[in-house]
Amino acid sequence: AGGLQFPSTMFRMAGVDTERAMAVSRDEMHALLERAVADGYELPRTAGGIYSVREGIVHLNITRVKVDGRSPDPFDPASLSRAESEGRRQARRYLEVFRRYVPGYERAFILDTGAELGVRETRRIVGAHVMTTEEVIGERKFDDAIAPSCWPIEEHGAGRSTRWVWMSPGGYCQIPYRALLPRGPENLLVAGRCLSATHEAQAALRITANCFSMGQAAGIAAAMAGDGRVADVDVPALQRALAAAGAVLAPRPEAAVDA
Ligand SMILES: Cc1cc2nc3c(=O)[nH]c(=O)nc-3n(C[C@H](O)[C@H](O)[C@H](O)COP(=O)(O)OP(=O)(O)OC[C@H]3O[C@@H](n4cnc5c(N)ncnc54)[C@H](O)[C@@H]3O)c2cc1C
Repeated sequence: AGGLQFPSTMFRMAGVDTERAMAVSRDEMHALLERAVADGYELPRTAGGIYSVREGIVHLNITRVKVDGRSPDPFDPASLSRAESEGRRQARRYLEVFRRYVPGYERAFILDTGAELGVRETRRIVGAHVMTTEEVIGERKFDDAIAPSCWPIEEHGAGRSTRWVWMSPGGYCQIPYRALLPRGPENLLVAGRCLSATHEAQAALRITANCFSMGQAAGIAAAMAGDGRVADVDVPALQRALAAAGAVLAPRPEAAVDA
């Protein structure tokens, strides 16, 4: 589990003056949190995702949970239990720092934490095709594409920031059907963050929209296979069925740029 991306305990704060809080830019937030670090607070990240969809409440993706300096072992319940405690400890520490350093949070309190640690990376299959960094960043297209992906590599590794590697503006790669077909087990389809990809490629492909797309493709493919083998599914027919169901396999470049 040594090289896995670090997980995060998600949590929400309430009692926030969201008008002032949401006016703090990402750069200002980073500077304020770095100041807290300079003052002696142990913060694992000084940049993160902070969102508000309800007045007074913010949702924070900002913890980085380590156990003995490493990503917790997702196969070891004891390691995961320690990670759950550490994530909640970090949420309390962030509360203290936000109340003290960040405008709008003076009267904040923790509303809740995620029921479970958010694990970005754990088991992946080795499939008929293994997606690589070069294919993601090189915006590779595949004859057996079942989904597009435009998210950059977003790697939550060591250090207080997250490593981003971007595609070109409006660019995207595709996920091939073969990345859902594990080598070895017969007649199995695997969809989601556990797809067949290298560590770095998975750091881009794991996002929610892609997991939805892979699930939709796997479900349609399984229905098409019937009593036959999923490896023998007629892929162009699968692509037509996906398109008929509204899936977009190749976004128009102008649509991506407009967005
Ligand atoms: C902290 C964090 C922040 C993230 N932020 C974003 C973001 O901002 N935007 C974005 O797009 N993506 C984000 N992601 C990535 C994305 O959310 C996940 O990669 C994606 O949701 C994974 O989907 P999945 O279907 O593969 O797995 P999951 O969503 O984990 O679904 C697997 C499901 O299977 C169930 N299950 C497990 N075992 C069994 C069993 N034996 N029987 C029945 N059910 C079972 C589980 O309960 C779970 O509901 C984030 C991930 C994390 C961890």
